[in-house]
Amino acid sequence: MDQIQVLDLKGLRISPNTEPDCPHGCENNSGYRVEITAEHPQGLAIPCQCELERRQQVKFEKLLKLSEVGQDRHMTFEKYKPRHLTQEKALDTLSSVHGSYFLFGPWGTGKTHLATASVIRALHEGIQGVRISVPSLLQRMRQFGVSEPLEIEMLAQRIPYLVLDDFGKQKITDWNEERLFELIDKRYSMWRAGKGHTTITANNDFDVLIGRVDGAIIDRISGMCEPFFVDGESGRGR
Ligand SMILES: [Zn+2]
Repeated sequence: MDQIQVLDLKGLRISPNTEPDCPHGCENNSGYRVEITAEHPQGLAIPCQCELERRQQVKFEKLLKLSEVGQDRHMTFEKYKPRHLTQEKALDTLSSVHGSYFLFGPWGTGKTHLATASVIRALHEGIQGVRISVPSLLQRMRQFGVSEPLEIEMLAQRIPYLVLDDFGKQKITDWNEERLFELIDKRYSMWRAGKGHTTITANNDFDVLIGRVDGAIIDRISGMCEPFFVDGESGRGR
């Protein structure tokens, strides 16, 4: 009988010996198991469940880094402790329904935490999401992306779940308004087509913002986002 040749999998992945054995039973914790079939008598390397999970984790880390959420990965729904009824309401909805929300209210009530938690949850569920601060996005676009859109701008336009943080804190200039309108208009179309959600945090409500920001932008945001007033005393520095 012919000897069956099996691929040497030891070199495929470096696993320190201290690592616990793969619960899915791949050989030497290689991340692969070998299947021998009629077409592949020498053995075909099939990624093990542990390898698939590792790849998912790498993707997750990459998105976390891109999403300005990397340093705020502790900002999960579980870690958010509401201290006001309005905070509780926002937490209830955001943690149970994927959607487009407009979180507004005074400083330090945890709007960014809630919005960040919604990105982290989306990423955990395999939905690509990023959080971007509006003032810094516009500043970067102005510095580097005048002639062609930046990677970050294209990302903001296409990603299924986008959180725009600190809306209203940007400088109000014609240029900023135009770029912001382009972005919000794209997000609005995606939302209408059922292809994505956008959550926005701000310190002011629509009535105040409409006096400062182009009405067409506010019009789309108020059409797309369910508003939540997030009130309470500032929790910063506690
Ligand atoms: Zn395995």
